[in-house]
Amino acid sequence: MPFKVAIVGRPNVGKSTLFNRLVGKKLALVDDTPGVTRDRREGEAHLGDLTFTVVDTAGLEEASTESLEGRMRRQTDAAIAEADVCLLLMDARAGVTPLDKRFAQILRKSPTPVVLVANKCEGGAGESGRMEAFELGLGAPIPLSAEHGEGLSALYQSLQPYADRIEEEEREQAVEDALDEAEGADGRFDPEAPYEPDLEAPLRIAVVGRPNVGKSTLVNYLLGEDRMLTGPEAGITRDAIGIEWTWRGRRVKLWDTAGMRRRARVTQKLEKLSVADTLRAIRFAEVVAITLDASIPFERQDLHIADLVEQEGRGMLIVVNKWDVVEDTQAKLRELKEELERLLPQVRGMPIVTLSALTGRGTDKLMPAIEKVHTLWNARISTAKLNRWLEEAISRHPPPAVKGRAINIKYMAQVKSRPPTFAVFSNRAEEVPTAYRRYLVNGLRETFDIPGVPIRLFMRARK
Ligand code: GDP
Ligand code: GDP
Repeated sequence: MPFKVAIVGRPNVGKSTLFNRLVGKKLALVDDTPGVTRDRREGEAHLGDLTFTVVDTAGLEEASTESLEGRMRRQTDAAIAEADVCLLLMDARAGVTPLDKRFAQILRKSPTPVVLVANKCEGGAGESGRMEAFELGLGAPIPLSAEHGEGLSALYQSLQPYADRIEEEEREQAVEDALDEAEGADGRFDPEAPYEPDLEAPLRIAVVGRPNVGKSTLVNYLLGEDRMLTGPEAGITRDAIGIEWTWRGRRVKLWDTAGMRRRARVTQKLEKLSVADTLRAIRFAEVVAITLDASIPFERQDLHIADLVEQEGRGMLIVVNKWDVVEDTQAKLRELKEELERLLPQVRGMPIVTLSALTGRGTDKLMPAIEKVHTLWNARISTAKLNRWLEEAISRHPPPAVKGRAINIKYMAQVKSRPPTFAVFSNRAEEVPTAYRRYLVNGLRETFDIPGVPIRLFMRARK
């Protein structure tokens, strides 16, 4: 959905001329004679690399018996209501008129952002009128000449942040919708029913990691390099948020981080941008591939990413790229596993896939590993099995007495998957120590073999 820009302002300031300039066709009828009847028009506008819908609110001056101000008010309100940004045009040669002030007043009260444009400024003309326009209280007016095409780059600069913000909002919404849909899949959760993958819905994945670990190289490899270069073709589709293809008959959708970065040109600090980027990717994905460079050990940023994935409750695995540069692969793998256990105890036993995106060696292990994590993330454990296990876990390690009184744990059940979520019922739920809850989570993970997936466990009161 392109964003929408409405051109508003009193008659004769040059709204239609600007509309024509942006749409690039003589769509709007421009006439010197006041009182030409025109309809409201919409067109596809191009300005630099921006594409948006532009609405020209000019016209209708003589089309009704209503007062001029009444008609303009109605039009402006309608335009404001549907536009993402309003361009308020004034005629710099004529200076500020009472009608301009009226428009400014209406626009200042509306939540829609406004860009003030002083038109008819070709060759530096209209300087004093442009200065007057500051008093409209809408910031610095952009000098423009719609007729001569001057000042368009300044107009571009003022619209571009809105384009980015709106695109961002839409993407955010698309992610929300995708997530809602996924959550909805758990609406009728039944731990007794075996997990059947929904082959209609794409498996959503994201490849995240520090800069330079080889994410783009890996994605290119996954998609087939030549296909990436030649752009979308049969089998691969792209939309606002991702790239989709079919792997072994199963739809897969990959969050398009590179695409996001291309699109988000906003002047943000690079570091800030990448954290926000990563979080969005994680929120989109069901399974996150945290990618490392084999020649560089774990860093704080990697742990931070893993923490984010855990908090968001997504499935995850570690991809160790550039395995081609490792000499003693056995020793390296052992070292990585030890580090992982030590640094990320909350997601014990996370799967590790070693590969080289550059040579392609080992890349065939990635998708099967992702699919496996996805299945675990969707895991369902029957109530009977859970309680058999719980009984054993309690007898091996009873919960400690708190303030001299025994904590009695009664039973448990899985209440949700994606990620697996359990409720444990106890007479004194709020007093069960965190360490004991952790003991239960670790036991569940080990017994039911669910590595690489966050496990949620809630205590619930029950007499
Ligand atoms: P609207 O009623 O706001 O849509 O205004 P129009 O686009 O119909 O323009 C009104 C008049 O202003 C026409 O005669 C245009 O040729 C003229 N006009 C529009 N833009 C410019 C400009 O940048 N410079 C000058 N000098 N005249 C312009
Ligand atoms: P990104 O920033 O994570 O997307 O990283 P890139 O995909 O741009 O890769 C960064 C650098 O690492 C590039 O010079 C790649 O050629 C190189 N690279 C990527 N994968 C491998 C690999 O498997 N082995 C080696 N030796 N280099 C790699």
